Amino acid sequence: MNRREFLQGAAAVASVSGLALAAGTKPEPEIAFTFDDPRTDSRANLRWQELNERILSALAKQGVKAALFVCGMRVDSADGRELIASWDRAGHIICNHSYSHLFFNGSGPRGVTLSEFEIDALRDEPLIEGYAHFTRLFRYPFFKEGDTAEKRDGMRAFLKEHGYRAGRATIDASDWAISARLEKRVAADAKANLDGYRDYFLQHIWERGEFYDSLALRVVARPVRHTVLLHHNPLNAFFLDNLIGMFVEKGWRPIDASHAYEDSIYDRQPKIVPAGESLIWALAKETGRFESELRYPGEDDTYENPRMDALKL
Ligand SMILES: [Zn+2]
Repeated sequence: MNRREFLQGAAAVASVSGLALAAGTKPEPEIAFTFDDPRTDSRANLRWQELNERILSALAKQGVKAALFVCGMRVDSADGRELIASWDRAGHIICNHSYSHLFFNGSGPRGVTLSEFEIDALRDEPLIEGYAHFTRLFRYPFFKEGDTAEKRDGMRAFLKEHGYRAGRATIDASDWAISARLEKRVAADAKANLDGYRDYFLQHIWERGEFYDSLALRVVARPVRHTVLLHHNPLNAFFLDNLIGMFVEKGWRPIDASHAYEDSIYDRQPKIVPAGESLIWALAKETGRFESELRYPGEDDTYENPRMDALKL
């Protein structure tokens, strides 16, 4: 069969089956990489400079610009300024992740009020606003956007007033839980083989990516420019290059974070309570049509730990 006959055959199949056409024309999903909570302590026998350099090198090698969501208390030092400056020089956008990483969905005496949360968001600004690539995107700590409609809508109005958009991610995940296991292993055995952590990490992010992409296509009925939540940690220092390579191999296209955030999906404000989780999770929740697929919280180490236990990670 030559190429023309093959294509004619394919067209005939497509014409009798809308499903085949849909499958055949599915556009390649796009994905941007976002990193939370840069820190300047040594972890997994990596000095912070080395850890940082490995992540920046992986991004440079793959030719993508990421977003760095800075939590002020972790970088309020000379080293911290040096770290943020290195991302800024490399062209990544520098965004707000609050100063103290407060849990906005808490209630009772240990709960955080709207005004405390607002003050803490602005307290991050002196650490990030001087950089060329500072971008007014605010990422809620723990992806928690308020446990009451008053707090949820109050913070949304506050962000708008201060020129911010919400720096949500469409793909939530638990890379932090895998990195915690890896760091513990390295502390016990500096020469430990880390392949199992790499494999688990790639499989986990791939599964979450597939899940949220499938959900997105059904909830908003169009492809979205995805953003995946990752952290500035040893796991990514070791394996980010593999992770991006995996997405490319599977037909996804890495894109710049600033380009991803131009998608109007990031202006959506799902009116759910408690508010938060991945943007796709929240939009699905709001429809009331996907209850059987939506666990709460959307992602957590409680889902990953038993699986890692079973693999002796
Ligand atoms: Zn965080």
